[in-house]
Amino acid sequence: MQFTDLIEKHFRLQDTHKKALKKIGLKTIEDLLYHFPTRYGDTSEMKNIGSLIAGETAVIFGRVSGLKTGKAFIKRTPISEGIIEDETGKIKAIWFHQPYIAKMIHEGALVRVEGKVSEKKSTEGSPRLANRGLPSVLSLINPKIEVVAKLPIGVGDSLFGEEGEAHSLYPVYPESQGITSNWFYHAIQKMMGSGILDNITDAVPDYILKTYNLPSLATALIWIHAPLKKDHAVSARKRFAFEEVFFIQLQKKKDRLLWQKEPAFVIEKTPTEIQKFVDRFPFKATEAQNKAIEAIMTDFRSGHAMSRLLEGDVGSGKTAVAASTAYSIITSRPKGQDFGNLQVAYMAPTEILAKQHFESFIQYFTYLNINIGLITGKECRKFPSKTNPKEWTHISKPQLLKWAEGGEIPILIGTHALIQKSVKFKHLAYVIIDEQHRFGTAQRQKLAQKPVRPGHPGGQGINPHLLSMTATPIPRTLALTIYGDLDLTLLDQMPTGRKPIISEIVLPGERENTYEKIKKELTAGRQLYVICPRIDPPAEDGIRASVPDLAILQMKSVVAEAERLERDVFPEYKDKIGILHSKMLPADKEYVMQEFKDGKIKILVATSVVEVGVNVPNATVIIIEGAERFGLAQLHQLRGRVIRSNDQAYCYVFADSKTQKTVDRLKAFKNSSNGFELAEFDLKLRGPGELSGNKQWGISDIGMEALRNLKMVEAARSEAEYLLSQDETLSKYPLLITKLTSRRQDEIHFE
Ligand code: ADP
Ligand code: MG
Repeated sequence: MQFTDLIEKHFRLQDTHKKALKKIGLKTIEDLLYHFPTRYGDTSEMKNIGSLIAGETAVIFGRVSGLKTGKAFIKRTPISEGIIEDETGKIKAIWFHQPYIAKMIHEGALVRVEGKVSEKKSTEGSPRLANRGLPSVLSLINPKIEVVAKLPIGVGDSLFGEEGEAHSLYPVYPESQGITSNWFYHAIQKMMGSGILDNITDAVPDYILKTYNLPSLATALIWIHAPLKKDHAVSARKRFAFEEVFFIQLQKKKDRLLWQKEPAFVIEKTPTEIQKFVDRFPFKATEAQNKAIEAIMTDFRSGHAMSRLLEGDVGSGKTAVAASTAYSIITSRPKGQDFGNLQVAYMAPTEILAKQHFESFIQYFTYLNINIGLITGKECRKFPSKTNPKEWTHISKPQLLKWAEGGEIPILIGTHALIQKSVKFKHLAYVIIDEQHRFGTAQRQKLAQKPVRPGHPGGQGINPHLLSMTATPIPRTLALTIYGDLDLTLLDQMPTGRKPIISEIVLPGERENTYEKIKKELTAGRQLYVICPRIDPPAEDGIRASVPDLAILQMKSVVAEAERLERDVFPEYKDKIGILHSKMLPADKEYVMQEFKDGKIKILVATSVVEVGVNVPNATVIIIEGAERFGLAQLHQLRGRVIRSNDQAYCYVFADSKTQKTVDRLKAFKNSSNGFELAEFDLKLRGPGELSGNKQWGISDIGMEALRNLKMVEAARSEAEYLLSQDETLSKYPLLITKLTSRRQDEIHFE
């Protein structure tokens, strides 16, 4: 058995297994070995079924049988039920609204069940499902259930009755529909039994492992899958967390070294020249904006290609920074020429944002009489129009491409369409990427590498300067990790005159009052956003260790909420309520957003994922439903949508839950207007898994664990730096090169 072997070479896979493995992204034996348990069950927490008492919350292990799905007699809600049995007794488990349970768990499976023990009269529940003469009238209602690999020692089945300690740890693997934790357990045991770990090579240099007292790869793999004690598991997880952050850092630092070696455009504009442009803005630039412009101009002069991240809250004025620095580019000549100009490419994640930037740039640059282009998947525009120098006009794509390639369009703004092969520039000197986290690394690189593509006619082999912009506040550890190749500038100051948003937490039962307040704002002509949690129907949800809870099924949906608001809350705004969510066609989204911008739609009910940076100054009120489901930084970003003008803005967060944790979190949100602070707070309180999707950052769950540990991240970073300072090409570490290459391929594959 080899690391690189495909899984199916060694395991007979059913179709459902194949599908599930594909979905989780596991192809090779190595992938499987790196599929780590999400947690370890500890048998010391468990109870015997025979000794359960009504009212207590209990963890039990047993074999499940009698699984069936039906409809409740009176309300016709779907019900699943089954019997859990161990050596000491049986208990019935009932799930309301979770008909898929019976499908996800197989008859006879060994399970871990956790929930509150209720006293149940025998006539309750579903009379159509026989009660099977249970000795006890106790039952578990909506308990958490998961399939386990083996029963803890001392419980029922003696199949796994090894000699052992009084209590033991058992791994629980992330599951997906079609493949259980149990399957993973057995597959991984088989692999480890095959001797695959005997000849394993460790990509992490030995001296680093020693410095930080980390286990070797082989040991760590054993410890993570089959720990004898908690310490082992902790130690192994630490190693893999370190390893991942180290690999990421190494890659980023390496990229950065390469990038900086390339020749760069030297832009010699004086601060006075830039100031003249800045003075034309209809507002006074903030101190933070001036500093950011200065930092970028210093990079432009340095002779190295810039790679800088501009991070600033929504509304902090990143576009003005982009425009001022773009100005210095387009008013510079290509080297050795006394004609023509350098070019700027400005990429935004959505059409609507690209158009918004196009319009802003027209305003800022009209006086210079230059061409500005727009390219999206659907259309191309050029400013100014031949017939009307104050307006833009539609032009054909070939025409636009010709001009861009000829260097006649100094500023080209666009969506992903910008990175198509056919888009070429003559003197691309500056690449700006807005909302950069919405793009994959590969996409960002594609744009930045435009001029050095082999065989590119206009390319001079000079790297453009690169400015990434984002409004997503993330904790420092995450920033250090994923932005290892970038210099960081914070835009930590809001334009003056903006009133702080008034945020209020609205607990269940206080809705009416809030709606009344909002009506006053609407009557005064303002517009309203209503954000609902996205709905992931259970069947579409990716990977999960246990069955989703009832609450997820009850999350407000955009469509239903819009109907409810129109019918029950804001009937006077009938026909003025719009919806926006990610499953709509781009053209429809565009249309709705435009209507909202134009004020034809007064109330926009939307999911959180769409159109982060869109500017609608008249929208001054936002409701966020199910607020406890969002990360604080994400809530903060949503709140930022209503900070666009000098009018008082309001953010109402509606929470469905009143738990102490929810209240604490939302209080922090109410009282802090600093996105970074909120991101750190959430990292502490909820853990890295909640940092809105590791997929977005390309970090695995275990890598995210490292982010709680600043010391570890800093260690990984300085080790990566040290290693590269000793051996820039990693020539002495071929294993590391292999590892980095395969990581990169995964990344690109993923995108
Ligand atoms: P973001 O950082 O979210 O991209 P924008 O660049 O879209 O923010 O700016 C938000 C709004 O604030 C725009 O209408 C812009 O014209 C305005 N703005 C930018 N800088 C300032 C400033 N220094 N003073 C006042 N308004 C500003
Ligand atoms: Mg923006």
